[in-house]
Amino acid sequence: MPKHKAWIKPKVIIIDIGKCKYCHQEMTNQESFVAFYPKGKAHYTCMKKADEDKTYENESKFDW
Ligand SMILES: [Zn+2]
Repeated sequence: MPKHKAWIKPKVIIIDIGKCKYCHQEMTNQESFVAFYPKGKAHYTCMKKADEDKTYENESKFDW
């Protein structure tokens, strides 16, 4: 008899944490993200990109 345990997929709890401030895509806790005070979250990569590319600065009209 083959000696092996049934493979059970590890449970990964994915939490929806809201939309990215920059790209407006839904984010999960599986991604690298940053939180802004008092509210708002963004992908870490988007924030970094925004830092480098200041064109995002003109987009200050976000619907919360
Ligand atoms: Zn993003």
